[in-house]
Order: sequence, then C-alpha cells, then structure tokens
Amino acid sequence: MNMNRYRSIILIITISIFSFPHWAQENDLFEKISTEITDHLKYYEVLYKHLHQNPELSFMEFKTSKRMAQELSTLGFEVTTNFGGNSVVGVYKNGEGNTLLLRTDMDALPILEKTGLIFASKVRAKDNTGKELPVMHACGHDVHMTVWVGVANTLVKLKNYWKGTLIMIAQQAEEKSGGANAMIDAGLFTKFPVPDYGLAFHVNPSLESGTVGYCPGAAFAGVNSVDIKIFGIGGHAAYPHTTIDPVVLASRTVLALQTIVSREINPLKSAVVTVGSIHGGTQYNIIPDEVKLQLTLRFYKNEVYYQTVESIKRITRGIAVSAGLPEEKYPEIFFPDQFTPPVYNDPALTNRVADIFRESLGERNVIMVEPTMAGEDFGNYGRTAEKVPVFMFWVGAVSHEDFAINKKNGIDLPPLHSPKFAPDYLKTIKTGIKAMSSAAIRLLAH
Ligand SMILES: [Zn+2]
Ligand SMILES: [Zn+2]
Repeated sequence: MNMNRYRSIILIITISIFSFPHWAQENDLFEKISTEITDHLKYYEVLYKHLHQNPELSFMEFKTSKRMAQELSTLGFEVTTNFGGNSVVGVYKNGEGNTLLLRTDMDALPILEKTGLIFASKVRAKDNTGKELPVMHACGHDVHMTVWVGVANTLVKLKNYWKGTLIMIAQQAEEKSGGANAMIDAGLFTKFPVPDYGLAFHVNPSLESGTVGYCPGAAFAGVNSVDIKIFGIGGHAAYPHTTIDPVVLASRTVLALQTIVSREINPLKSAVVTVGSIHGGTQYNIIPDEVKLQLTLRFYKNEVYYQTVESIKRITRGIAVSAGLPEEKYPEIFFPDQFTPPVYNDPALTNRVADIFRESLGERNVIMVEPTMAGEDFGNYGRTAEKVPVFMFWVGAVSHEDFAINKKNGIDLPPLHSPKFAPDYLKTIKTGIKAMSSAAIRLLAH
C-alpha cells in the first residue's frame, strides 16, 4: 500500500467517524420535529381557535400583536413591540451562524363569516372611518400566526440542531399593503441583523392539506388599489335631460375598463383590472352628483401597471368629456394604498427549500405550482438594498374529503376572502409547522 492511498483511507475513516453523529441527527431531525408538533398540538389548536374568534382589521391588530409578542417572550426571544405600527420583532440568538427571517401576517378582513363553524367569528369592529363592520379571518392569517408560534416553539426546543440568529416578525396590515414597508421604513434591517434568507407562507384554498406548493421566480402578482370618483350633475329622476347622470357614466366606465386587459395589454403579459365596488345615489327618484368606484389592479411587470393606470385615466376622462361635463367635473383618481410589487421567490433558495420539503414531507406532498394573480407584500423584504433572498410558499388547506369531492364534481372550493373559507386547520397547521421548521433548521444548520 503506498503512502497516499493509506492517507486517503485514514481520511475517509476520519470523515466518516466525525460525520456519523451529524448523519444520525439529520435522519432523526424530521421525526423530532413531528414529535414536538404532536406534543404541543392541543396548545396550537386552542391558540388557532382563539385567534379565529378574535380577528382584528388591518392597522388595528392591537390584541393580536400583544399575543404574538407574549408567545415569543415566553420562549425567550428578545421582543420589540409596536415596530412600524402594531408589528412585532422577536430575535433569538443561538450562537454563530446564519440569520433567518420568518414572517407571519396578523390582520383579518371586513367579512361576515358564514362557515357555520362552532368557533366562527362573531366580531364586529369599527374601521378607520368609524364604520362598524363584521370581521373574519377569511385569508387564513390565523393559521399563519399559529404556525409561526409553532415554528418558534419547535426551533427553541430543538436548538441543538441549529446555530445562528432567528428573527421572527409578526406583521400588521398585509391586506392593506402597508405593513411590510412600515417595518422596513422603521429600520427592520438596520436595527436588527440583516437576514441571509427570508421565509413566509400562505394557506392555499385549492391544494390538499398535507401538501405544500412552491413557485420559483415571480410567484405573486403586484397589486395596487384605485379609487375613482365619477361626477355628474344631479337632479330629479323625472327630468333626466336636465342632469348628467353619473350612474350612467359609471356604468359606461366599468364596461370600458374591461377593454384595458382584453384590448390594450399585450396578451402575453398578465394583468387584472377588477372593479370591486360601485356606490352612488340615495334613493329611487334622485339622480346623484357622484358615483364611487373601487378597483384592484394586478400585474407582473411594472410597465404593465403604469400602462394600466394611464389607460384608466384616459378612459374615465374620455367618458366624462363625451358626456359634456365641464372640466371641473372630470373624474378624480386616487391611490389609497401603497403600491405592492410582485413577490419574486429567489430561485436558488426556493429550489433548496423545496428539496428540504421533499425530504421532510415526502416527494408527493411537494407540488410545483403556477404563479398567482394574488398579491402579497412579503416580496418587499426582498426588494431593499440588502437584497435578502426571500421565498414564500403555499400550504394546502383543503381537507382530503373536500378535495376528492371537488376533483370528482368540479364544485368550486371557497377561495380566500370568501365568507365560507374554512381551512382543514389541524392538518394545515401541522404541515405548516413541519415544513417551516424543517426549512429553518436546515438553513441554519451548523
Ligand atoms: Zn388576503
Ligand atoms: Zn392573506
């Protein structure tokens, strides 16, 4: 045996000996995570139902954020509250290593719950204009928070399996698109360590519970909201010729806006123009002075967004001009929310985490999905000068039974923001915690 060969063998033996405990750890890691989840499942179920029954509107997540802060404090996180509004930042330092950001959102929606669940929300609350509204977690942010708490708990309990810094953020106002930017503007990346990676997930109303979905690259659409005030010249409904009827102008406008996507945007580029609300008038026999429209715009390319905005301005103005309105009564257009760009899932991070999911959840439970026209402000964390690679994945929320019925009969499942949206919560929570904890521990591996 020559000396080099002898050395190589010694080297291989040495590597094997020192690697063995690491392999053992790797193999039982996913088991350990499952055990941790099972041990605390009752707690997570109670927490989920509590959050579901106590929803709060965007920018009003007062009790919710307090609860999230409390959960992290109990686990030994250093917690900062009221960061960029109601948001919470928790930092857990566990030696030298990478820094990982995990985000949940907290807000609910002004929807009257119609799930028929015994723990359905009965909450009514005033919005920022003082209007009383029903409130429901119809976008699954209650699941997100429960999973987030579960991941924090699992990572603390299994802290021997990883090293580094965990930054957990509970973000206000995802539905209004101001939450992420408020945290960034408040100094998320200057007052706290800059993350090497950022992860978040959203429940998915068409994937089966027990599965996760991922989409490398552009995955969630950009979003902006638009308010349009269409003016007219009001009067008696019996004398329409003495008025310029804004109800008719608004109707024309709504139809004409449909031609932006169908006739003006390049068909190979994605865009949505939806008029989600139209309000005007008070009673049968009065022609009102104004009608208000509320729109949502969705897009993947900023140039498509700017083109859409220009088209909306041109069309609404053109209809006012053709009706003979004086210039001071041309429509007014506002943008009440902050512009949210598309979520871009860093492809390297996405594929790496998808591989971890396959190991942890099994090959057939990890599904590559198409991009969606739904929007998310989580992408903003990846768009700052720090260029943090981010990945947002889906966690299936449809029960096996509903999924099978849907497949057989093609009956639509209640989407997100539906008053009937009721996730298969226990399995969804378990899968969410398992997926996120597996990814987090692997990304923070020694
Ligand atoms: Zn939503
Ligand atoms: Zn949501």
